[in-house]
Amino acid sequence: MTLRDKIARELEMREMSIRELAALFECSEREVVQHLRHVMRSARARGRRMYVLPALCLKCGAEIRCRRIRSVRKCPECRSTHVMPPRFRIM
Ligand SMILES: [Zn+2]
Repeated sequence: MTLRDKIARELEMREMSIRELAALFECSEREVVQHLRHVMRSARARGRRMYVLPALCLKCGAEIRCRRIRSVRKCPECRSTHVMPPRFRIM
């Protein structure tokens, strides 16, 4: 099973952030982001969908939505770094 398959299988069981996936599979966050782009496409091909739960600023409460798959370290509203990163889940 490839790393990409493992990531997909993990996201079918629970929601995970990019950082959590990188820690779990001992790879870089950059690699995870690249895999997630493909995982998203292949999920769609199998009639499923990868959902992105938006990042949340723990200081001002802003929901931070991104067009692209990436991690979020800073709130665009208040510049706080107390941010819960976006999480991913395949349903
Ligand atoms: Zn904020």
